[in-house]
Amino acid sequence: MSATDEAPATLRSWVEVDLAAIRRNLATLSVIAGPAVKIMAVVKANAYGHGAVAVVDALAGKVAMFGVANLREAEEISPHARHTPIALLSGTLPAEHAAIVRRGFIPVVSNFDEAAHYAAHAGGTRVKVHLAMDTGMGRLGVWQDDAVQLARKLTALPAIEITGIASHLPVADEEATFTREQLTRFHTLVAQLRELGLRDALVHVENSAGLIAFPDLAGALARPGLALYGESPLPEFQPQLAPALTWKTRVVLVRDFGKGRGVSYGRTFITPSPMRVATLATGYADGYPRQVSGKNAAVLIGGKRCAILGRVTMDQIMADVTGVNAAPGDEAVLIGAQGGETIPAREVASLAGTIVWDIFTGIGPRVARLHRDGDASEL
Ligand SMILES: *Cc1c(COP(=O)(O)O)cnc(C)c1O
Repeated sequence: MSATDEAPATLRSWVEVDLAAIRRNLATLSVIAGPAVKIMAVVKANAYGHGAVAVVDALAGKVAMFGVANLREAEEISPHARHTPIALLSGTLPAEHAAIVRRGFIPVVSNFDEAAHYAAHAGGTRVKVHLAMDTGMGRLGVWQDDAVQLARKLTALPAIEITGIASHLPVADEEATFTREQLTRFHTLVAQLRELGLRDALVHVENSAGLIAFPDLAGALARPGLALYGESPLPEFQPQLAPALTWKTRVVLVRDFGKGRGVSYGRTFITPSPMRVATLATGYADGYPRQVSGKNAAVLIGGKRCAILGRVTMDQIMADVTGVNAAPGDEAVLIGAQGGETIPAREVASLAGTIVWDIFTGIGPRVARLHRDGDASEL
């Protein structure tokens, strides 16, 4: 869609994604990172709900690498990545190894057995892998104290080429002291691994929060996800980013309620006075969190904040449109701006008792993705 296009009137729930905003966020992060640090754009989970193929099309040639969670995601974006390498950030299954080697995706390895299994599929080539170290995340990687020993064993496997050294930060947006100490420890280990001959391995460790808070400790490559999409894990940095996504739905029905009527399951909301109530075409089956029920969540209709009434249901939500211009077919904004009002994704996340990552990646397949690229030539 172009900047001025209206979404089709038959759409019930959709996100509009501004690809130019994602490119601007990439440029902002690249400036923070500095010229020595390249960017791996993390596009796992359908680019955090933003539509992986369109995001990869918009960023191919502008980033050093794409990061996805798994083989299936890598296969989906591969035809669009042009020649940009694709890294698999999650652990892999033994049954996936043959295809990963064949397609040239870059896995992380955590131990000798994984590496040996990849080597068994090498078929005369060298398999490029990144060595993952556990420096505090407790999810993947060789424990830091055993990393040098493992690296020694791996360098003896002729079919394995360690082209990267990686780790991950568990509290980059929560505990600066731990994170700084962890990063320092990581880089000390990296120096030891370099001594073993891993001189050219790409060093990467920082997610969005790590990059924003500690750009000097990034290594060669940073792995931002959330910040690319315009949400900062650190509130003080939010003004420098542009949220790329607006989630919209439509009013399907407007009704006038008398005093004392129940709205939605559980009858947790009873009209305290006569109200005009709109029924909207999105529910928790679309990924709008049911947990915001009864928590003062709002949507935007006619440029005004309208309270969500009662529980979020599977396919529909009710909102208070008393005194608001609302008619069937009208747009309602669940996340994003309308008129002068904005509902940030973090507001919905916080009301739901969760994090923005969860809200974005929860936006379901029933929700259409419309992409706009206002200024494709800009960057
Ligand atoms: C998801 C992920 C990232 C991106 O994290 P953000 O907080 O969204 O920037 C980076 N590295 C790894 C290993 C990940 O799994």
